[in-house]
Amino acid sequence: MKYCRFVLNGSAHYGLVESVAGNNEEITRLLLHAPQESDGDVEGLPSRRIDRIPLAQASLLPPVQPTKIVCVGRNYREHAAELGNEVPQEPLLFFKPPSSLLPPGGIILRPQASARTDYEGELGVVIARRCHRLAASDDVRPYILGYTCVNDFTARDLQDKEPQWVRGKGFDTFCPAGPLVADGLDPWAGIQVETRVNGDLRQSGNTKDFIYPLDVLIRYISQIMTLEPGDLIATGTPKGVGPVLAGDVIEVSIEGIGQLRNPVADQP
Ligand code: MG
Repeated sequence: MKYCRFVLNGSAHYGLVESVAGNNEEITRLLLHAPQESDGDVEGLPSRRIDRIPLAQASLLPPVQPTKIVCVGRNYREHAAELGNEVPQEPLLFFKPPSSLLPPGGIILRPQASARTDYEGELGVVIARRCHRLAASDDVRPYILGYTCVNDFTARDLQDKEPQWVRGKGFDTFCPAGPLVADGLDPWAGIQVETRVNGDLRQSGNTKDFIYPLDVLIRYISQIMTLEPGDLIATGTPKGVGPVLAGDVIEVSIEGIGQLRNPVADQP
């Protein structure tokens, strides 16, 4: 199952996405309810057929409407090392506000308050059903609706300067997400996460190298806060982070999901 969120005739809809010949994708049906209302069964939601729209021509929105975006810091050993940090003894969590979400193709704005802004390509996890204080024996998979690409865009100088990362991580446009949500991926077996800047490969990591695998993360987060359907978890970035400037284009690619592409500009 794959779905996206997009604008059709001036209003926002969720749409089912199907692969067609030539490795292309098309939106084939409108979902009559949001996927996060499906209790994990998106294909069981009522939908109606539409004239097929090539995904590449759709006016895409972020494919999620989370109540919160929970992010994991330093979840790959080599990334912790490249920024001179120890591997955390427990998962290191922070938030990005939902107001930082940006659709595929949207322009990331570098704030005037920062002199160094970095890309961070990450696997995003979308929550399927309310999730509270999971036990060690609980299977986390029924709580996962699907996966998407996230760019945990960061004002590195502000992050380094302040103990709380509200500013460094929270500016508007700092959370590009999309292009779609897909299930059928297995982060435990390993999903390749790649980031390119202007076409040059900068990050190439695999989720099988997570310090804290997804079941540990979801159980850990659920001890602290109730995860609601549609909430987004950004699972951490592999090594290779680096700065970008106005005019650069960032692409986060994840096998089985697709490519999240966003240009960068200076905040006017
Ligand atoms: Mg990150």
